Amino acid sequence: MSYPRKHLLAIEGLEPPHIADLLDLAESYALLNRSGKTQRDLLKGRTLINLFFEDSTRTRTSFELAGKRLGADVINMSVSTSSVNKGETLLDTASTLNAMHCDLLVVRHGQSGAPSLLSQKVDAAVINAGDGTHEHPTQALLDALTIRRHKGRLEGLVVAICGDIAHSRVARSNMHLLTTMGSRVRVVGPPTLIPAEAARLGVEVFHDMKAGLAGADVVMMLRLQRERMSGGLVPSAREFFRFYGLDAEKLAHAKPESIVMHPGPMNRGVEIDSAIADHPTRSVIGEQVEMGVACRMAVLDVLSRQLPRNR
Ligand code: ASP
Repeated sequence: MSYPRKHLLAIEGLEPPHIADLLDLAESYALLNRSGKTQRDLLKGRTLINLFFEDSTRTRTSFELAGKRLGADVINMSVSTSSVNKGETLLDTASTLNAMHCDLLVVRHGQSGAPSLLSQKVDAAVINAGDGTHEHPTQALLDALTIRRHKGRLEGLVVAICGDIAHSRVARSNMHLLTTMGSRVRVVGPPTLIPAEAARLGVEVFHDMKAGLAGADVVMMLRLQRERMSGGLVPSAREFFRFYGLDAEKLAHAKPESIVMHPGPMNRGVEIDSAIADHPTRSVIGEQVEMGVACRMAVLDVLSRQLPRNR
């Protein structure tokens, strides 16, 4: 197993063998989970703290489930009940976590770079569960695993990532992972929602759904991240749906066997039509959630192997 780091802060900088090994391990956890068996010894005696400064449904619960399935003691620190609301700084929180001998720290924060800052101050291995508009590395891993299970590979696939690319850490992690693994990545959205760095990341830019989806193997839809937008970057939700919302008519331009993905939470009728979101054969949105648990087990497994025993 080739994973070169103590933490998982970003996909950027990982090389193909690191990603492939993580996905292979996650695949074996996916099979184990489906068989109903658990592996409760691996993280026995380890403490995993989920520290979430932003809302989350899937990510927080799946890290909790992943930690428990591997036998860790899991603590969820909800920021609304912690001292952060009383003015404690991020770094004071870090020293508290150190004193508790936390082994694995899962952090979500509204500020890009916050998990990286914490990783310099805590003894624990830190996993970025989404920081600002920067990265969401475990989401990209679970997306890649879901794609690989359906298409058998990542190399050479045409993947169209659509909607609010500029504010999406999911898009950023996926662009890094998929281009590293040899996929042909397209980003599709209005000019106001495409980041200037897209070209540097080696992806093709489209402003028209018909052209962007033509011949795609994978169509990945994203939520409009209004909480990160300053000013009106998009017209009304209705108009956005008309031009960029995925419905049967637009999906018809992708390959007939293409799959539809969404990291959640979905805004039905804004970026995706309900009939597509719930499509029995094309939508793999439920499977993404399932693969999320497997990928997070793989990440916890790999990072825990590098922790000193008896801390
Ligand atoms: N759940 C994802 C994230 O935390 C996507 C989203 O919020 O739209 O980035």
